[in-house]
This record gives sequence, C-alpha cells and structure tokens, in this order.
Amino acid sequence: MEGGIKRRVTKVIDVGGVPVGGRNPITIQSMTKTDTRDVRNTVNQIRKLTRAGCEIIRVAVPDDESCRALPRIIKSIHIPLIADIHFNSKLAVGSIEGGAGGVRINPGNIGGKKEIREIVKAAAERKAVIRIGVNSGSLPKKWIRRYKGVTPAGLVGSALEWVKMFEDAGFRRLKISIKSPDIRHTIKAYRAIAERTKYPLHIGLTEAGPMMESAVRSSIALGTLLMEGIGDTIRISVTGDPVSEVLIAREILQTLGLRSFGPTIISCPTCARCCVDLVKIVAEFRKKAKGMSGKGKAPGKKVAIMGCVVNGPGEARDADIGIACGVKDGVLFKKGKLMGRVPEKEIVDTLIKEMER
Ligand code: SF4
Repeated sequence: MEGGIKRRVTKVIDVGGVPVGGRNPITIQSMTKTDTRDVRNTVNQIRKLTRAGCEIIRVAVPDDESCRALPRIIKSIHIPLIADIHFNSKLAVGSIEGGAGGVRINPGNIGGKKEIREIVKAAAERKAVIRIGVNSGSLPKKWIRRYKGVTPAGLVGSALEWVKMFEDAGFRRLKISIKSPDIRHTIKAYRAIAERTKYPLHIGLTEAGPMMESAVRSSIALGTLLMEGIGDTIRISVTGDPVSEVLIAREILQTLGLRSFGPTIISCPTCARCCVDLVKIVAEFRKKAKGMSGKGKAPGKKVAIMGCVVNGPGEARDADIGIACGVKDGVLFKKGKLMGRVPEKEIVDTLIKEMER
C-alpha cells in the first residue's frame, strides 16, 4: 500500500539501470523536443529535465543521422534513454546497438515477424527493453473493423496481439502503453489490459494539449488509474516546455501519496480577510522549498500557509508546520503546538528553518 493505494503487482523490468514495475517507485518519463541530430541541444534539454526530476528520457529517432547521434547523447547524460521508433526496424536495431536502454515501437507500423525478430535479437543481446506503444491514432485497420471504430477493446486487442508476437519470439522484457487523447477510452483500455497482463504499464494521455489543459486532463485520466493501482511509469504529454511534463507528473504522484518530492503546500486562496501578501509568501516559500527536495529533508512534510484566523489555526495545527496569518504577522504551529508569532517578513525563512530542523 502506498498512500492508501494498493498497487497492482507487475513484473519488474530493468530499463537501463532503472527498475520499472513491481513495488518500485512509479518512474517519471519525458520526451525531448529538440532535433535529435543536434546532440548539444538534446543533451542540454535532457540535463534540464533530469534536474527537474525526469528519470527516463525518450528521444525520437526518425532517421539514420539521429540514430548515429545516440551514442554521443547517451555518453553525456545520466538517465536511461529510450529511442522512439516508427516505420523502420533498422533504426530500432541501430538505437539498441548504440546504447539505448530500450525502444518504444508502434508494432502496427514497424513491419512483420521478420522485423520483430531482428529487434528482439538486438534487445536480447543488449538487455534492452521494448515498449509496445499502441496509439488510437494509428490502430491497425483490422481492430477498427472488428470493433467498428477505435475503441478501448481494439486498443487492448492490438497490444495483446503484439505482446504474443514478442513472447513467441522468446522476448519478455516488455512494457505496454495504450494511449488515446480520449480520457474515457484511456481509462477503460488500461483497466482492461491491467486485468489481462502482468507486464508493467507505461501510462499517459496522449496529445493532451498545452500545459493547463494537459495538467487537468492528465490528472483526471492518470489520477483515476493510479488510484486504482494501475501504472508503473508515467509520461505527461504537453504541447510546450517538457519540464512542465515532469512537474505535472511529480505533482500527480505526490498528491496521491505515491511519491514524495518535497513538502506538500496547503494554502488558502486569500480573500478580503487576508492582511499579509500571502501570494508572495507562498511563491517565495515554494521556490525555496523546491531546492530542498531530493535532500531527504522536506519530502512528505505538510506545510500550511493560511491567510487569516478563519481556517488558519485549524489547518496550521493540522500540518507538520503551519502558519496562520494575522495583521502583518503570523502564528506558527509545529506538529499542532503553538510556537509563537512571526513577523510577515520572516515567515518564509522561519518555515524553511523549521523544515530543516
Ligand atoms: Fe480568506 Fe482566511 Fe479563508 Fe484565507 S483562510 S481564504 S484569508 S477566510
């Protein structure tokens, strides 16, 4: 049980040194948006994403030149790299030989049994993983005809058919994703496949839109699945800065109590009763506290920053550390105990100091 959630037990696979599945932490993935042939920019983006909390990075490999760039990229980064391949099995083989921890392929467009065997051979030799990534936008016609349209049943049927093909080729280091921009389809499809396979699931809502839209849609879709114990690794899709993908993923996991990256901030929206600049206080605290995550100090702590005495003392008392603001000052609580008054200007530093203790 994590955060009161009973996770579905899945097989563990090693993705370039990062375990995925079983009881391992749900990992956060993102994807670069640079030209993969541009090694410098791609490495810089991966490093930025790593600092933000990305644990597995995927890069698109659309051509030979991108494939040839991979070893140089891999040499300069510290997280496993997954090559995203469409249409060309040779690029999958080349990426694995170039050091990718795995490949994401869409079996519907990668070729037939011969191509699958070639990829399997390379992956088996290098202990790489393969993600079978079925997408509603490229579901093979057979499944569209059978279920009269793109349906969760068709997505699951297609994914499992490919799983069988890889198993028949003797390969089991697999993970699966079945993505759609439709929230209900995504939830239904993952629920159905979770009942029929033990392979780890990469969950995500595809083509989820710009940051705000994606944050809301992804939280609904992935939040529902994660609360049911479904999902071993996640990627948020954002039309925009990939760092926001990582930050949204972290927030979803932390909100559900599945991972902890820093303090959980409880703050009120403010209203006419608020007599301090609470928005500034919370923003400053958030910025300073962010630097503490990963140091093992702040994770898991609940910090309440409240605007007045209406709900302030109650929430502040309930948190690990809390402040209930008054007129140009605040009353500090620690584990429910009243610690004294703090002037407005010293609130942020006092909270940080208390967290460090
Ligand atoms: Fe308004 Fe006070 Fe509630 Fe904040 S805690 S929203 S300031 S009433």
